[in-house]
Amino acid sequence: MKKLLPTSTAGSLPKPSWLAEPEKLWSPWKLQDEGLNEGKQDALRLSLQEQQHAGIDIVSDGEQTRQHFVTTFIEHLDGVDFENRKTVRIRNRYDANVPTVVGAVARRKAVFVDDARFLREQTKQPIKWALPGPMTMIDTLYDAHYKSREKLAWEFAKILNQEAKELEAAGVDIIQFDEPAFNVFFDDVNDWGVATLEKAIEGLKCETAVHICYGYGIKANTDWKKTLGSEWRQYEEAFPKLQKSNIDIVSLECHNSHVPMDLIELIRGKKVMVGAIDVATNTIEKPEEVANTLRKALQFVDADKLYPCTNCGMAPLSRDVARAKLSALSAGAEIVRREISN
Ligand SMILES: [Zn+2]
Repeated sequence: MKKLLPTSTAGSLPKPSWLAEPEKLWSPWKLQDEGLNEGKQDALRLSLQEQQHAGIDIVSDGEQTRQHFVTTFIEHLDGVDFENRKTVRIRNRYDANVPTVVGAVARRKAVFVDDARFLREQTKQPIKWALPGPMTMIDTLYDAHYKSREKLAWEFAKILNQEAKELEAAGVDIIQFDEPAFNVFFDDVNDWGVATLEKAIEGLKCETAVHICYGYGIKANTDWKKTLGSEWRQYEEAFPKLQKSNIDIVSLECHNSHVPMDLIELIRGKKVMVGAIDVATNTIEKPEEVANTLRKALQFVDADKLYPCTNCGMAPLSRDVARAKLSALSAGAEIVRREISN
C-alpha cells in the first residue's frame, strides 16, 4: 500500500436498527428469509459507505451479515449441534451457553465468500475480511467428540484455510484471524496456537493478519481488565512466537489500555495495526489523542508498517458513536501523516 498510515477497523461495526437490535451482542435478526438476505446486503452497503465517508482506507463489511464473529462461522459447519448446549467458561472469564461438537467438523460449503464477493463489487479500495482464529473457535464450544482442544483447533485450522483461500480468490486483500484467546491461554499459544494459525494461512498469497485484543467493551471484559493491574503484559507471551511466524500483520489494542507500548518491539518487522480508538467507551477521541497513540507506537514500528486501527470491533456501540470514532481515527492519522512527510 502506497499511502502512509492507512486506516482500518478491527472488524465489526454497529448494525442498523431495522436489521438487528442495536448495542447488543448476539442480537437476533429482525427480518426473515429473502428480506433478511436483502437487509444484510443493504446494511453492508451502508457500513461501507460510512467507512468511506469517514475516510477509512482499508474497508470491511462491518460484519453486517453475521450475528457474532465466532458463532456465525461455526453455524455453517458440520459436526456442531446448536440444540445441544452446555455452559462453559469463555476465555476463563464468563460463562456462556455454547453449542456442542458432536462429530467430525467439516465445512460443506463456503461461509462468507458470497458476502466478500459482494463487498468486492462495491469498491476498489483494499478490503479486509475477518475470520475467527482456531483457538478462539474452540474456546466458544463444548467438545464432546475430539476431547482435545489441540485436535479440534487443527481441524478448524484446515477448515479456515479452505475458507481463506476462497476469500482470497474473491478478491479480499487482507484476511484477518481474530484470536482474543491468545491473550489468555499462553502455554497453548506457544505449544500449538500459533502453529494452527499458520496452518489457517498456509498457501495464501494475500496479506494475513491476527487480531489480539482485550475484547469488546462489555461488562465481563471491563471487569476482567480491572483485575489485570497497572501494566498489561499479556502480549509479551505470544509476541516472540508471532514474530517468527508467517503472519504479515498483528492487530493490537493500544489506546487507553495499560499495554506498555514498548512490547511492540518484540514483533519488529511485522506490520502493526495499532488500536488508537477505545471501543469500551462512548467518549469520542480527539484527533490529537489518536495522533498521540500513533506517535508512541512509531517509536517501535517503522512508519511504513504502521496501520492505525480501532482497539476491537465496534458492534456493541451506537452508530453515531462508531461513526464519530471512525472520523477521529482518520483525522488523527492525518495529523501524524503530515508530521512524517514534513
Ligand atoms: Zn477484538
